[in-house]
Amino acid sequence: MLKIVLLGAPGSGKGTQSAKLVERYGVPQVSTGDLLRHAVAERTELGLKAKAAMDAGELVSDDIVVGMMRERLTQPDAENGFILDGFPRSASQAEALDEMLTELNRPLQAVVHLKVDNEEIVGRLMARGRSDDNEETIRNRLGVFEDQTAPLVAHYQAQGLLKQVHGQGDVEEIFARIEAALADVS
Ligand code: ADP
Repeated sequence: MLKIVLLGAPGSGKGTQSAKLVERYGVPQVSTGDLLRHAVAERTELGLKAKAAMDAGELVSDDIVVGMMRERLTQPDAENGFILDGFPRSASQAEALDEMLTELNRPLQAVVHLKVDNEEIVGRLMARGRSDDNEETIRNRLGVFEDQTAPLVAHYQAQGLLKQVHGQGDVEEIFARIEAALADVS
């Protein structure tokens, strides 16, 4: 049973580390970015609504994202835990998550903040080359992260849930830091 949030800027390695956590702890990764990209690829109504915001590097509206999370977290495989990747990304999403998890009687155990320098982030995203990884969109996403998502660090610190992890170095080394940070919750 592991119920955590991975918090970090775009390109901080949340997806990479989530995949390793899935293997290690046997709980699903729940990535709003992946769910949204899937919806866009399938051309669902939700995907069509989300696409413009994603292309611009803005946040997709809460009603879409929160609804999607509610649906995903009530699937049977999330009963034993989950690794949230890319959600919550704003104070209102954090509040919605809190309500959902209280309702489901599945409170969060920890929030891991993957900390990476801005310079390294830009380099990683430019190298990755996803369709929303062009310079202007990257700049926008970093701005949105600073304005809307970074305040969640203090929010979860105040709740006593925050684990700060240095997100630079090699993938295995960073994973070992995350495991160490989670030693007392898993
Ligand atoms: P990254 O972490 O590299 O920014 P993601 O895959 O997490 O990549 O997100 C890609 C895009 O999907 C975001 O720029 C945003 O438009 C949308 N998105 C993902 N998660 C959320 C969320 N929780 N709330 C609103 N929009 C989101």
